Amino acid sequence: MDNDITIHNMSYAFPGKRDSPVLSNVSMRVAKGEFVSIIGSSGSGKSTLFKLLAGLLDPTHGTIELPWIQDGKRLGQVAYMPQKDLLLSWRTVMENCLLPSEFASGRQDKVRVQADILADLERFGLSGYAHAYPDELSGGMRQRVALLRTLLTGGQLMLLDEPFGALDALTKREMHRWLIELWEGLGKTVLFITHDIEEALLLSDRIILLTPGGQNQQLEDMTVPLPRPRHSDMIYEPALVQMRRLLEEQLHAKR
Ligand code: ADP
Ligand code: MG
Repeated sequence: MDNDITIHNMSYAFPGKRDSPVLSNVSMRVAKGEFVSIIGSSGSGKSTLFKLLAGLLDPTHGTIELPWIQDGKRLGQVAYMPQKDLLLSWRTVMENCLLPSEFASGRQDKVRVQADILADLERFGLSGYAHAYPDELSGGMRQRVALLRTLLTGGQLMLLDEPFGALDALTKREMHRWLIELWEGLGKTVLFITHDIEEALLLSDRIILLTPGGQNQQLEDMTVPLPRPRHSDMIYEPALVQMRRLLEEQLHAKR
């Protein structure tokens, strides 16, 4: 329990928009090591929720508790992959991956860090690409670099905002396999925003449906009734088909 991420009665309104909060009285709890997907119609505040968790924004009301953070400063202590991959086009894959260590300032041995990154690139199926520029990579490869860079930020929590939204179905499936392997190996907590219900069902322990902010936002919270390891055929199981229909209905009803 004590290791849980806890959001308690959190509200957020952008400055100058005090009377129309994006999030109002949102509460949720995520256990250490859990994989939770957040779905919700466009504009329902999903990306804003992540910016709050990452420490780029502070709640207007309510609290966010991340048990591994002592000083209340979330920024830099949560691994956050924004909706756009934001690889720096003028930097090589290696130089992009070095960014988190540059922000961490001084305390790391650069040669050692580079050696570690080379090993990670190999594990991520990117060996031989350390000196390539983002433009020279396929969409799937760019996403893997962005994901690796996010991981290198450290932190127990990974926030992934529609990381595979722009990928074709085949690449997406490959990335799923690969993300799950990574997640199982690292034991990190993952929050994953997607508009793809099938993706959410196949990857997550739980799915939270975020509805556009009104007074006292109620979140729908569903446990995915599938064992692990998962495989893509599981989406045809009756319990899953039913759950998918329910989620689709709710997503449209709450628009
Ligand atoms: P989602 O990721 O679910 O599509 P967002 O969190 O990006 O939604 O946005 C939620 C709402 O907040 C939208 O109505 C959007 O227009 C508004 N919004 C997002 N960013 C800002 C900002 N910087 N200033 C003012 N309003 C914003
Ligand atoms: Mg968004």
